[in-house]
Amino acid sequence: MGQGQGDYRILHEAALRDYLAEQPDLVTLLGAEPVSWSITEVGDGNLNLVFIVKGDRGGVAVKQALPYVRLVGESWPLPLSRAHYEYLSLSKQAQLAPGLVPALLHHNEALALTVMELLEPHIIMRKGMVAGTQYPRFVDDITSFMARTLFFTSDLALSAAEKKQGIAAFAGNHALCKITEDLIFTDPYRIAEQNRWTSPYLDALAAELREDMELHVAVSRLKLKFMASPEALLHGDLHTGSIMVTDGQTRVIDPEFAFYGPMGFDVGAVLANLLMAYFASAGHERSPGERQVFEDWVLGTVEQVWNEFARKFLELWRDEAAGDAYPISLFAGEKGAARLEAERQAYMRRLFTDTVGFAAAKTIRRIFGLAHNIDFELIEDPKKRAFSEARAVRLARGLMVEAAAAFRTIADVTGAARKLRDWMPELSG
Ligand code: ADP
Ligand code: MG
Repeated sequence: MGQGQGDYRILHEAALRDYLAEQPDLVTLLGAEPVSWSITEVGDGNLNLVFIVKGDRGGVAVKQALPYVRLVGESWPLPLSRAHYEYLSLSKQAQLAPGLVPALLHHNEALALTVMELLEPHIIMRKGMVAGTQYPRFVDDITSFMARTLFFTSDLALSAAEKKQGIAAFAGNHALCKITEDLIFTDPYRIAEQNRWTSPYLDALAAELREDMELHVAVSRLKLKFMASPEALLHGDLHTGSIMVTDGQTRVIDPEFAFYGPMGFDVGAVLANLLMAYFASAGHERSPGERQVFEDWVLGTVEQVWNEFARKFLELWRDEAAGDAYPISLFAGEKGAARLEAERQAYMRRLFTDTVGFAAAKTIRRIFGLAHNIDFELIEDPKKRAFSEARAVRLARGLMVEAAAAFRTIADVTGAARKLRDWMPELSG
């Protein structure tokens, strides 16, 4: 791994070419003629620069953090150190979930720059889902990724010392956590300059959210859990825009929000983004038959993601529990084993309740907050978009406020989603 000593500067095309040409391993990979490399900026994300560089032998992706939020500009500074945390978490994920993240090729701390495997012909999963594509490998891959990264960074797998070192290693990523704390758990529920929604159709619903004290309590509990529960190393932004896919492969990218937090936040992010794709489906051009097939696949995937995640996580717990939590000496004999197994099931029920709540928070922020998603945004007719969004919000409000009481299994969640498929909400305007 290269260690640049120079000060930070933004590497646009020419400077990037010169920089990469000085890295022998990368030259070998790309091909010996730097002048012939093609360099294209492809960053469609909200925060950073991403370049694809291709030579006659191969290609790489280069990601560089900017000292501000790309989506907003220099008026919103953001620490470059996020590149360090992204690199650190990618390394950890590569070790725990091999083959499910892009390979790391080079990192320069001072430049906040990482070179990684070029994912090609992968596309962003969210784009594929907007087009109605199904991904047969997704369930198995994403559940392995989550079960393994979450289990092996938790107190169930680590010694107390290792776990606390892990927390410390990511504690400095608090600026990125603060973005989540504000944009997901706070702003959508109050008047905030950066909020937006499909107006005028959702004006009344936005106002309702700001008056809904049950919801404010529920989201504040989730915010507290996010802030105060370092259960495991999270990806921190595990939506379908952070997953690149082909029919046969799944790769998780962009873990710059990584920190030690509650596991349900990652699992809930995946479920929320599938559920939003489900509700958005009604607004996209597809025949009734295609629509039905796609929506059945999405809800089936929601169920399998939870079920397979839970199965794999429990399997790891039974087989690989080397951590300081639940000392095995306290659960000796048949009676102990049975009691511990019951406790594992109880743990998964609590994790499910967290997951459902976080899924709801992740949904509401995409409809009323700063960052929206193309599942809804690409529905051109704003009234159709508002119908899809209002259905998603109706489900999310129920999930958040009644998480423990009314949603005990994943089938309760998909059943509620199915019931809202053709619900006609009253819109403003
Ligand atoms: P940001 O942090 O700014 O959101 P991302 O890490 O999400 O940036 O990357 C932005 C875009 O760049 C992705 O949506 C994807 O299209 C592309 N991209 C990122 N990493 C790779 C990669 N390893 N291979 C190919 N394309 C990539
Ligand atoms: Mg990002």
